[in-house]
Amino acid sequence: MESLSVLDMFKIGIGPSSSHTLGPWNAATRFLETLGSSHITEGNPITSVQIKLYGSLAKTGKGHGTDIALMLGLVGEDPVSFDVDNIRPRIRSIRDLKRLTLGTGQCISFDPARDILFLTQEMLPFHSNGLAFCATFNDGSARTEIYYSVGGGFVVQEDQLQHNSTPAVTLPYPIESALDLSRWCKQTGLPISGVVAENEKAWRADHDTRAAVLNIWHVMRQCMYSGCHSDGMLPGGLNVMRRASQFNKRLLKTSSYNDYPAWIQAIRTQGTGFAYTLDWVSCFALAVNEQNAAFGRVVTAPTNGAAGVIPAVLQYLLVFREGLTEQQTDNDLILRFLYTASEIGCIFKKRATISAAMGGCQAEIGVSSAMAAAGLTECLGGSAEQCMMAAEIAMEHHLGMTCDPIGGLVQVPCIERNTMGAIKAITASQLALHSDPASAKVSLDVVIKTMWDTALDMNSRYKETSDGGLAINIPVSVSEC
Ligand code: SF4
Repeated sequence: MESLSVLDMFKIGIGPSSSHTLGPWNAATRFLETLGSSHITEGNPITSVQIKLYGSLAKTGKGHGTDIALMLGLVGEDPVSFDVDNIRPRIRSIRDLKRLTLGTGQCISFDPARDILFLTQEMLPFHSNGLAFCATFNDGSARTEIYYSVGGGFVVQEDQLQHNSTPAVTLPYPIESALDLSRWCKQTGLPISGVVAENEKAWRADHDTRAAVLNIWHVMRQCMYSGCHSDGMLPGGLNVMRRASQFNKRLLKTSSYNDYPAWIQAIRTQGTGFAYTLDWVSCFALAVNEQNAAFGRVVTAPTNGAAGVIPAVLQYLLVFREGLTEQQTDNDLILRFLYTASEIGCIFKKRATISAAMGGCQAEIGVSSAMAAAGLTECLGGSAEQCMMAAEIAMEHHLGMTCDPIGGLVQVPCIERNTMGAIKAITASQLALHSDPASAKVSLDVVIKTMWDTALDMNSRYKETSDGGLAINIPVSVSEC
């Protein structure tokens, strides 16, 4: 049984795509580690590296910055800490000099136009997001490794597919399905977040998990704040203007704040009502996904394309919800929300997919909406069964949603789609909070199975290939990011 931590579901990285940017970056890092441990000797240095991209990675890799991510991975940069302002100068230097220094320290000739091949008509067998690295050495020998980027930044090496790997940790409450989760909650009397907190202790001390998850929120909120204060055009050639900052200026009658807490205070005090709240939820989501599209720092939640849904709903909870008890501090709410949301995401990953190349947009926006709906429901006092009902409702109304980003850029329809995912999550939570889960016709496990069945039936044109839908009705030539 696969064991997944909350820190697997929420990863700090760089936009615009978890499967097409973060995953390939991680694959390049893993490739270097593999070479470093077994194949580099002083007398036999690497002379070249070539990367072949297949399937969806080849078809939409340019728009998703896959080539950029690969180069940054090869030079040994870390997506968690690399300064996003340095992306363009660093890549420009590699392109101009046609050389790069590998993370292992060796300088090689590398021309991305020659050494990164987009094989749009070829597929590898296991997954649409396949990539092969080939290093050649001074003595003429070569080593090739194949990886698959399976969504959410997760990467699987081809060798691993042959072996049934043993989970690295043994969890007190192993969870493979919503039914398992429900059983553990009943047996222990713990809410979903409590079960998750106990399981996380198998990986690390409780205070370390809390600190890491609060840091995840810190990055999410910084991303929202930055997105709400950045103007201009998004990169890539589609000429999409940023809108979050326009929303921010229109909704706030002041600009006399200079940090996140003061900004939140201004939002709280300058309006009420349904339209005001709705606009802010949209604004939060737009801000994150505009940052994502601009190669900004984001948290994969559970993917980059869908990274705005969870921060937007959690921010809505913290800013707008009334009726929270005084005992519920912001930190408690943040932890409960993100723990609960992560477990729902884990179950989707285990039983279906969180990869748009496998399941279309239902696997990205649909899953993030289900995660957010469950997190919100627990924080608002819902039972574990109501949390799962909220997740089911949110996914039920994303079933069949296709992925057809224009130009392969994570911009249209992706950015707006996050606003929809957030609103659906809030609606799903409200419905579940005022319903009896015992009378529900569709369980969370059944909707997950249905999502997977739909993914299998879905035409491959709608699985992050830009071969169908909006992508072919609005052709665009992608410019170098
Ligand atoms: S359409 Fe959906 S799944 Fe596809 S890239 Fe955009 S957000 Fe991701």
